[in-house]
Amino acid sequence: MTQEAQQETRSTCPYCGTGCGVVISHSAGRITGVRGDPDHPANFGKLCTKGANLHRTVQLDGRLVQPLWRAQRAAPLQALGWDEALDKAARRFAETIRAHGPDSVAFYISGQLLTEDYYVFNKLARTLVGTNNIDSNSRLCMSSAVAGYKATLGMDSVPCCYEDIDLADLLFISGANTAFAHPILFRRIEAAREARPELKIVVVDPRRTDTAAMADLHLQIAPGTDLYLFAAMLQVLAAEGLVDAAYIADHTEGYAVLLEQLGSVTPEVAAGVCQVPAADIVQAARWFGQAAAPLSFWCQGLNQSGHGTANSAALIHLHLATGKIGRPGMGPFSLTGQPNAMGGREVGAMANLLSAHRDLKNPADRAEMADFWGIPALPTQPGLMAVQLFEAVRRGAIKALWIACTNPAHSLPDQQRVREALAACPFVVVQDAFADTDTCAHADLLLPAATWGEKDGTVTNSERRITRVRAAVAAPGEARADWRIARDFALALGRQLDRPGAARLFDFPSPAAVFAEHARSTRGRDLDIAGLDYARLEQGAVQWPYAAGQANGKARLYSDGVFPTASGRARFAPIELRLNGEAPDAAYPLRLNTGRLRDQWHGMSRTGRSGRLYAHEAEARLQMHPDDMAQRGLADGDLVRLSSRRGDTVLPVAASNELAPGSVYLAMHWGSANLSHPGANLHTLQELDPVSGQPALKHAAVQITPV
Ligand code: SF4
Repeated sequence: MTQEAQQETRSTCPYCGTGCGVVISHSAGRITGVRGDPDHPANFGKLCTKGANLHRTVQLDGRLVQPLWRAQRAAPLQALGWDEALDKAARRFAETIRAHGPDSVAFYISGQLLTEDYYVFNKLARTLVGTNNIDSNSRLCMSSAVAGYKATLGMDSVPCCYEDIDLADLLFISGANTAFAHPILFRRIEAAREARPELKIVVVDPRRTDTAAMADLHLQIAPGTDLYLFAAMLQVLAAEGLVDAAYIADHTEGYAVLLEQLGSVTPEVAAGVCQVPAADIVQAARWFGQAAAPLSFWCQGLNQSGHGTANSAALIHLHLATGKIGRPGMGPFSLTGQPNAMGGREVGAMANLLSAHRDLKNPADRAEMADFWGIPALPTQPGLMAVQLFEAVRRGAIKALWIACTNPAHSLPDQQRVREALAACPFVVVQDAFADTDTCAHADLLLPAATWGEKDGTVTNSERRITRVRAAVAAPGEARADWRIARDFALALGRQLDRPGAARLFDFPSPAAVFAEHARSTRGRDLDIAGLDYARLEQGAVQWPYAAGQANGKARLYSDGVFPTASGRARFAPIELRLNGEAPDAAYPLRLNTGRLRDQWHGMSRTGRSGRLYAHEAEARLQMHPDDMAQRGLADGDLVRLSSRRGDTVLPVAASNELAPGSVYLAMHWGSANLSHPGANLHTLQELDPVSGQPALKHAAVQITPV
């Protein structure tokens, strides 16, 4: 291999919502290296361990390289060509739609997909099939943050940017272990602290994570008690004159009602519920109220809860009450877990959303999109959200299911029910880059997808920044880009359903054409990117909105104090004080908490292929407080049985002082695909946030016994 043969292609890391730019080295059709893009504003050349090892995860072992089909689930898979594969899928979907109606089929897609992939799937479901049964694994990630933003600020729009880390004087981090989940953001936080030692950091987390270890104040609250903490902080802000009365009067509504509603939650009451000192709650509130620029981060610790929407809203309320929003260094900043959860929100590819932040429940918004797409009407029946969707599969209401780029047999709560649903579903298509995920085992038809380094499109990161993703090498075998698979299926389905209009609806010759249509659909909306195209993105990543004629993206939103609500005011949303749905009891006395490892990603279908990424944590271990271990006569490394109302797992135990007594912790990544046990989601339950439908993947009541 000669030096001259080396080429470089700029793209984006496919893991977390930080959205780091990468430069891929490749030669003779093979990816040979990766480095951080020095010009990308998300990371300025830095990469974390996962990103820096991307080129070590691209081997072909385990890749799906041709369509595979079986007539019965127990039969061996057989190779077939793309045309035949798509015709088989289209025939089954068309038969199901004709016999049982459009809501008898569903699409379950992924925050790993690119915006263009998302767009085509969304259009396919809403227009050609005529169902809102399209949901995404982003439901498990940030749907409660979406609902929290909409309830308070009026739209699902993150008002902050990464530069705010450099400008804040207080970082208030709740339910987010940025050191592991968003490592490059964490490095920016460390750099900000080094440059300005006076920067205060408060971390709210049931575990003393690496992020919590750097805090000036760590509120190690009992899991699921966030609402009481935020309610008490609001009371302190009000009682000590730390609210901005003028901002509240001029730019918000509902403050007095909410304050009265939460009036009984004093710091002492919250201290009893949260199991932290009342003085620490008061201190956190004072620092928040006195800060010139408080910046709040949150992630799954708040979102993956039976009251995640209220958690998000209650944190946003602290910014509204103090008027600390819309200016440099401040604001409520929800971190997206996945690389393109934000892009899926923009496209509206979730069961309760509609394109470009339109409202599925609003007839005018539906009519606008129907007109845009040139069809008579959009379906009105709300779609099924992830957990509900698989429950509908389980009871036979969904009879044909298309799963793209995600592994629900691993990642959904109460995993056994999900696997039973998949086993019972009459027709399952799985579109994936990898052939060995838990979900692949349930497929009737497997379609090979291109993946990182092999496909073109765009993603949007946590700060609303849209970046190009580029192919450096060709996809292996017959694997195709996800948007193209969705388009070609739409054309085949159009033929089966005798809808000649499908050819016009899905006349997408390239991802650039898909992006152009998506951009047009945003015109006049809060996320207007009508001024953006691939040519402009060649010059660099851009934050939305970027309307036609706009010279630059917008770093911050709501600087003028005007919000996209009917009154133009932000809202203090009513808060119902709630705790976790499954409390510990005599049979299951411990709280299981789940989360991420630093060097693994989701179900490990990619990161699990690099030996280097096991150096940080080599095997699944259940973390437990030493006192709880001593009570059970356990030593480090002993095998234990982890039991819940949903099943048993056997795995080694590890002593950890990160946890409070009474809690255990298991990383979400491990599972049957990479180890011989079913993983954390055997134990998690189907407790859902009533607004967002996001499941409470963080919590379960469990028992630990020696084996
Ligand atoms: Fe990739 Fe996230 Fe690491 Fe950046 S911080 S390199 S986006 S995993």
